[in-house]
Amino acid sequence: MSERASPVVLAAPSGTGKTTLARRLVEDREDYVFSISATTRPPRPGERDGIDYHFVDRARFEEMVVSGEFAEWAEVHGRLYGTPQAQLKHAAESGVHVVLDIDVQGARQLSASVPDTKLIFVLPPDVGTLLSRLTGRGTEGPAEVARRLESALEELQAVENFDYVVVNDDLERCLGMIRGIVSGEIRAMGHEAVEQDVEVFRSEIRRILADDFSDYTNVSS
Ligand code: 5GP
Repeated sequence: MSERASPVVLAAPSGTGKTTLARRLVEDREDYVFSISATTRPPRPGERDGIDYHFVDRARFEEMVVSGEFAEWAEVHGRLYGTPQAQLKHAAESGVHVVLDIDVQGARQLSASVPDTKLIFVLPPDVGTLLSRLTGRGTEGPAEVARRLESALEELQAVENFDYVVVNDDLERCLGMIRGIVSGEIRAMGHEAVEQDVEVFRSEIRRILADDFSDYTNVSS
């Protein structure tokens, strides 16, 4: 292949649609593979062990940490998540891009140890979309949704550490942008352009949390 294979990290607040993006990136493509993380989170309905995640208990996860099996790992929403080192090694040896759907802490760790890593931050088009994706999943109760919104507040702050920012307003357009970034056709773009949007998102999320979700249906208006 002509492009240099590098890890591609997609980071975004949960509810941005990045898991769908990551899955679509690798579909029908031999030069992209998805990195399957290990997690202590229980499977959601429909999730399969070894395909969506390697579901493990805390003791097993801690064993993997101690034996150095992770390229990076982090605690997210009270659960442990980690990227198996072996997958990155295998992808590099095979010359394929490995797509990682990980949080901002993991993104930081990975870019420190693999400087080639393409760090892409995915923004939701607006807070209303973010919230309806979080609540619409129907698998998380209000306390979990609140927890994910609190994390989103922090994660949005990390946008300034990313070379690339894409807005997930249209799946196909967003995929095209990401492919362009990976191939090198799209060069690093500043996050300055989205800083104001990010601040608006953060203040809306703070308001939703303070209102206890009572008027979340109006947030995008
Ligand atoms: P979820 O529980 O919704 O699948 O994922 C929650 C968060 O954990 C998401 O932000 C996801 O990107 C992140 N995550 C998933 N796998 C990993 C991983 O291996 N390492 C890190 N640091 N974060 C991960």
